[in-house]
Amino acid sequence: MRIQILSILKNTEKEIITSVKNVLTGEKLNVAIVPHENPDGDAIGSAIGLAEILMNFGHKVSIISANDYPDFLKWFSSEVEIVMYDSKKKLAKEILKKADVLVCVDFNEASRAGKLEKKLLEFSKTKILIDHHPYPTNFCDYTISETKYSSTAELIFDIVQLIGLEKHINKNAAEALYTGILTDTGSFNHNTSRPNTFKVVSELMKFGIDTEKIQSNVYHNFSAQRIKLLGYCLNEKMVVYPEYRAAVITISKKELEDFNFKPGDTEGFVNYPLSINNIVFSALFIEKEKYVKASFRSKGSFPTNEFAKSNFNGGGHLNASGGESDLSLEETLNNFKQLLPEFKHQLLKTII
Ligand code: 5GP
Ligand code: MN
Repeated sequence: MRIQILSILKNTEKEIITSVKNVLTGEKLNVAIVPHENPDGDAIGSAIGLAEILMNFGHKVSIISANDYPDFLKWFSSEVEIVMYDSKKKLAKEILKKADVLVCVDFNEASRAGKLEKKLLEFSKTKILIDHHPYPTNFCDYTISETKYSSTAELIFDIVQLIGLEKHINKNAAEALYTGILTDTGSFNHNTSRPNTFKVVSELMKFGIDTEKIQSNVYHNFSAQRIKLLGYCLNEKMVVYPEYRAAVITISKKELEDFNFKPGDTEGFVNYPLSINNIVFSALFIEKEKYVKASFRSKGSFPTNEFAKSNFNGGGHLNASGGESDLSLEETLNNFKQLLPEFKHQLLKTII
């Protein structure tokens, strides 16, 4: 039998969209939406955007997140319920128990849901995955994985059209989905090679969203301490290796405390070294309570996700990925330095 692929979703069989349509546009259900842990703008924007659309249709919708999300994302007009599993376990469990459908957004494997992993795997009713990360694992009944998309938010907009829910998009949903696209493209800096991204943005703008207000809310809303921490990191902590076209920043727990760190403060730091002439690979290592969190970014074809997977037990996109290290911060930095020669050839041949 010939598998029918929908022209806009290159990876997804038509049958899957039909099944998702049948689930989400039939009887009114209890729906739980789960973003990845430490939700970013795309994860939370996708969750809120989809929640608004499904609520307008008539479903009862809650978002359950493994943990809290940064303050710079706490201005959405939507009033959808967002329950943090780490602080409201009982309520989250009740919602999951009542849910008829679970929709996972913006992650490709159950472990990326953090402390919710077990709950996701145990959930016995319909599970849908909507995501744009490469290498999705098979933990849902219906997987819509489209890696060419700039963001899960852009993908949700197209899925909503395909399943006939477009008339339920409202301004709150448009604002949230726009935020997902805005943040996953770094303000339209990367992942913007497809016209569809801008097509979706122009459709979202028709709902009267205030794009300048959103830009301000997300990017011009930092504490003075955060900007000082950024200055300190660039001035004192960034090491550039021109011979490898790479750069790294490390931040210790103590340094974070000195700058009165709040979750989300280091968001975006890893991108700065990429604005240095000829640098194609940037790494950021942040000392956490029990491990070191790694973030990687690149330009061109250098696959940070493979680097993260083989050396830092992580993954993500080609140009943006992350992982973890169980070594100390200093040892992690040494390990990173020792890895660079192995990747020298690939780094030097990267075309930008
Ligand atoms: P960030 O550096 O902003 O934390 O993450 C960048 C990208 O890498 C995101 O798309 C995120 O989903 C992915 N990512 C970050 N940390 C991890 C990790 O520990 N494991 C995997 N598989 N992906 C990660
Ligand atoms: Mn995303």
